[in-house]
Amino acid sequence: MRESKRGKTRGGLRIQPENVPSGCFTRKTLLDTIRRNGRASRTQLAELTGLTFMAVKRNMEELLDLGLIREDGTEPSSVGRKSVLYAVNESFACTAGIYINMYETRAAVMDLGGTILYSKRMAMDQPCNQAELIDRVIRLAQETLEESGQPRERILGVGIGVPGPVDPGRGLVLSPPNLTCLQYVPLRGIVEQALGLPAFLQKDANVIALGELRHGAARGHADMMYIYADVGIGGGLVLNGSLYLGLNAGAGEIGHITLDQDGPVCNCASTGCVEAIASGLAVTRRYNREKGCSASIEDVLQAAAQNDTCAVMCLNDSARTLGIAVGSLINLLDLPVIVIGGLLAERYEPYLALVRQSATEKKLKGYRSNRILPSALANNAGVIGAGELVADHFFKTGVLELFQSGAAS
Ligand SMILES: [Zn+2]
Repeated sequence: MRESKRGKTRGGLRIQPENVPSGCFTRKTLLDTIRRNGRASRTQLAELTGLTFMAVKRNMEELLDLGLIREDGTEPSSVGRKSVLYAVNESFACTAGIYINMYETRAAVMDLGGTILYSKRMAMDQPCNQAELIDRVIRLAQETLEESGQPRERILGVGIGVPGPVDPGRGLVLSPPNLTCLQYVPLRGIVEQALGLPAFLQKDANVIALGELRHGAARGHADMMYIYADVGIGGGLVLNGSLYLGLNAGAGEIGHITLDQDGPVCNCASTGCVEAIASGLAVTRRYNREKGCSASIEDVLQAAAQNDTCAVMCLNDSARTLGIAVGSLINLLDLPVIVIGGLLAERYEPYLALVRQSATEKKLKGYRSNRILPSALANNAGVIGAGELVADHFFKTGVLELFQSGAAS
């Protein structure tokens, strides 16, 4: 973060909203509106916020002075003076992200626009050892921060995405079925202590949802869901521009919707869940049963690419089953965008079209088209989304501290 004439500040903060002058909220409203819209002119901001043009003008000058926004071209217009457009100044500060899944861990430093400035990755050991894994993740993150060349005071914090379930309030990984060595690890505290930065923890599908919302396939939408169709099936739900966590931070678990009460036993101990029928693990199990072999999901995907009838059938059925759940999801929430990623969707070309077809058959007729889209950020979605946890915190409370330190000086 730059040192402004109003003093230096940082993202991890404790704000008492009742003590914040109302002008701070005006500036925050303008900043939130610019962030949501990508860029906007002062006239557009007055229309969108209901503020007077003069109030917009005065507060925009403050935001420019603080370096939080920048001019970003002019509005296309054939007559009269062209209006200047404003965007969030992505160079104001940096975020860091760590994304851990069963295949690899990625760490990255990003600007506030979600552009990766530097990143590193490492493959996961199988089977993994808890102490070793934590040690390797911390080392990877430290190296990434150092090699990024960004001064530590410019980095607002570090976001962490891990296989769920997690307890984000306590910063605790709970019992991820596909990464058991991280069970009950207080990862947020460990990362905070090791890196000396505020940290934020969410399950993998939630951070990917944030990444796709802000910088990927769902950009410009306020409501969306990301579905992770991989070895397991997970989901992250965004409502009104923010992650929707639910009472136990368990929202979005589309993989555990029951489709067949008498179906196979699921990882969650229930029966007939979408995950038990359609996940990569279920696909592999079925393929091995029918072929009498011990293939991996990777083998099944390769067999399908070579038109192996059994592999194609197992993957097609998986896509159709997931589509039934997606159809129900649309009937429940009528989301404008559903983004589907993960190994099955990304590696089996017909997967998404089959999900769409099956979802269309199940959703109520007469709805306008709810779009089912592939991930736009692919392998970087997790780490970019992890950085967005930090950016969200900064724009929610960090800016208020910044405005207050400005008002006090
Ligand atoms: Zn289940």
